[in-house]
Amino acid sequence: MYEFAVTPAITQLRRPGVTITEVASESLAEELDLAPNDRIVKVNGRSVRDYLDFRFQTAGETELTFLVRKSTGESLEIEFDRDEGEDLGLTFEQIVPRQCANECLFCFCKGNPEDARPSLFVRDEDIRLSFLYGNYTTLSSITDDEMNRIIEQRLTPQYVSVHATDLKTRAYLLGVDEKRADIFDKFQRLLDNGIEIHAQVVLCPEINDGKQLEKTLRDLAGHYPKVVSTAVVPVALTRYNTDERLTRVTPEFCRRTIQQVEKLQKEFRRTLGTTFAFLGDEIYLKGGVEIPSRRHYGNYPQIEDGVGMVRTFLHGFEKLLNGFQTEAKRLEAVGLARQYFRNSRTHPDARVPVTARAETTLPIERSRGKKLYGTILTGEMFAPILAEQIARYNALSGARLTVLAVPNTYFGGDVSVAGLLCGKDYLNVKDKIAGDFVIIPKHTIKSDEPILLDGMTFDELRSRFNVPVYADDMPAFFARLGSGK
Ligand code: SF4
Repeated sequence: MYEFAVTPAITQLRRPGVTITEVASESLAEELDLAPNDRIVKVNGRSVRDYLDFRFQTAGETELTFLVRKSTGESLEIEFDRDEGEDLGLTFEQIVPRQCANECLFCFCKGNPEDARPSLFVRDEDIRLSFLYGNYTTLSSITDDEMNRIIEQRLTPQYVSVHATDLKTRAYLLGVDEKRADIFDKFQRLLDNGIEIHAQVVLCPEINDGKQLEKTLRDLAGHYPKVVSTAVVPVALTRYNTDERLTRVTPEFCRRTIQQVEKLQKEFRRTLGTTFAFLGDEIYLKGGVEIPSRRHYGNYPQIEDGVGMVRTFLHGFEKLLNGFQTEAKRLEAVGLARQYFRNSRTHPDARVPVTARAETTLPIERSRGKKLYGTILTGEMFAPILAEQIARYNALSGARLTVLAVPNTYFGGDVSVAGLLCGKDYLNVKDKIAGDFVIIPKHTIKSDEPILLDGMTFDELRSRFNVPVYADDMPAFFARLGSGK
């Protein structure tokens, strides 16, 4: 999910136009004397509300007129031509998110500690962020203007939190009346106009599970392929979610859900040719059930929602180790050949001696430079899987990497995923660090600002460790293991 900056939501609400934040050097925008803090208010006579309007109104246009409000307050019209497809070289402010009008039982905002970073308390419900970043909306309070905009500007796909197709259940979960919870007409209108939808169910035991879940998945699958996929993710309750109407997700509940949904998945594969209903990774991990194969996930339509991430990781790791093994074989062959020729010179009839093999032990270590010696921090849920893979890597490369499962004491409750680890959680395990460095998951740091979920800056975190702290995403992590640096 995209987490936006909270400041623009407060300071820039309802200002017309879109503000430029950067102008690329030697770009067309620079030639036109556009500068950071200028606002583009109209394009070819049409008002611009945000970056998406700007993109829509300039797309494919070669003759353009901008009405620009300069940061000095002066307004001017700029008329110009550009080549087809020529980039203007502009970067814009973030979109100011629209807020939701729901009171969901399980809302993550209710599960935040008081001192969590402010952006975690913003209840966004924005079709633009849904289109741009895959954020879910409930469509419950969407206006006609927004509906028209989705259709006119082809903001497809949209990501919709359905939770349950039974109206009573949906209204109960969203904390709104049934009239507001009823999105059937809107949903249908989007589908009729060619807007694709990825649906989501936040699974709450004893509310929208069992028969309710089956009904929801069948109803949604009835709209396939316009409803492209559905993600079923478990409700995650922190220690601050104390609503008695909510029941915590247990390993037994996960296993039962897997069994139930597997039957439907088989049916959907047979009738639709796709798994269609995907269970979140957390359900498999918590239930202690093996993660499905790559084929199960197809093109990973809901990976941003934590569906298929573990399989992607395991696949990437397998490729990394295969690469090592191939290289090991090549080096071993080279070593054996060298040894053979050395021996041949002294003993023409000598066969390749067994000792030649000893010389090629851990060939990767020699070929990739220094061995990695450090600690990888991750959430308690993913730690056993990561530790297993790292043990294979260590055995093959001679590295000394340790995986440390970090308890989430900041949010507490059922929260054990890596993505919600905080600065304080990392500091709690500081004394258990072994080696020359620490790696933390990059997605625990805000994407546009080096700050963790509890408000600690990345700089502060680093200053509290005696060894360098690296924040790696998956590609960077694999690159580090691959290069041994
Ligand atoms: S839609 Fe529900 S879960 Fe999402 S922000 Fe609003 S109240 Fe919270």
